[in-house]
Amino acid sequence: MAEAEIPYGDALMAPFWEGASKRELRVQRCLGCGEHQFYPRPFCLACGSGSLTWIVSSGRATVYSLTTVRRAIAPEWTPPYVVALVDLDEGPRLTTVIVGEKPASIGDRVRLAWREREGLPPLPVFEREE
Ligand code: ZN
Repeated sequence: MAEAEIPYGDALMAPFWEGASKRELRVQRCLGCGEHQFYPRPFCLACGSGSLTWIVSSGRATVYSLTTVRRAIAPEWTPPYVVALVDLDEGPRLTTVIVGEKPASIGDRVRLAWREREGLPPLPVFEREE
């Protein structure tokens, strides 16, 4: 299979999409203060340092909020589906989709899964833990 093309041409996001191609959820970590952040920025939101690196998230998170989408707004997503904000164990809050048979609620523990896409890196989605 051909290497998936990195979408959107955004240099700041390129390490994220390279990670996604390997099914690694990458977030930035500040080398100055150790805080993590996502989406990526050229500086640390906590201390202002420009010394940032990327780490691979554990993929473990807690649901902060969620809602069920019942209208088709994007062709690749067939409603109903659950859009959520999840707090990664490393700290950053991500907007994502909850997949799987088990319904999730606020406060539930979720783990990383991947939604495959044709010709693009997979998207990080989450599913409820047992
Ligand atoms: Zn910092």
